[in-house]
Amino acid sequence: MITVLTPRKLLDTMSQAVGEAGLPSPLVAGADPFFVLVGTIISLRTRDAVTEVVTRRVLEATPSLREMASIPVEELAELLHPAGFFNRKAVQLKKIAEIVLRDHGGIVPSDRQTLVSLPGVGGKTAAYVLSMAFRIPAVCVDVHVHRISNRMGIVKTKTPEESEKALMKFFPRELWIPLNHIFVRFGQRICLPRIPECSGCVFKGWCRHAD
Ligand code: SF4
Repeated sequence: MITVLTPRKLLDTMSQAVGEAGLPSPLVAGADPFFVLVGTIISLRTRDAVTEVVTRRVLEATPSLREMASIPVEELAELLHPAGFFNRKAVQLKKIAEIVLRDHGGIVPSDRQTLVSLPGVGGKTAAYVLSMAFRIPAVCVDVHVHRISNRMGIVKTKTPEESEKALMKFFPRELWIPLNHIFVRFGQRICLPRIPECSGCVFKGWCRHAD
């Protein structure tokens, strides 16, 4: 049973529980920031399995900003189906490609303020792009991170935005980049959304939810 758990130990333990070393997703590891940005927008309101398939399909068809900017929006929407809000995302992705080409010299911005000014890009997406594409420390709070950190009692928050602020205080800055990936894998395999597998969980006996 775990009795004392520092933030570092918690993340290490979680990473080992899912058999990973906290590396980024194969889909985006070392990828162009454009790939990360596209994949993150597709993932919004979309199941993980669908995100993976759709992102690969879209990036195969439009592997650069220029190709994304020139594809007809209806065609892009077809590629995005069945991702959530695929019609809206088609418009947003095409617009983002046009803006980045026109206003940023074809280089995806690496600062939060400019990123969130792009269509469809919120704080979560910006944090993911900063941390995964540019290796700039940022806490990306998606549904998994928000759910698990509240279940465990690390934070007590109502919104992902509140969780982001609380987690930035809880975890030291050097752990912000791998945090999202580890939490997501843990949420997909053990701390499942509906019925978490608490009986076999390494945090059983420490986690507030399992008591
Ligand atoms: S004990 Fe249950 S709720 Fe707590 S982290 Fe493990 S799976 Fe999630």
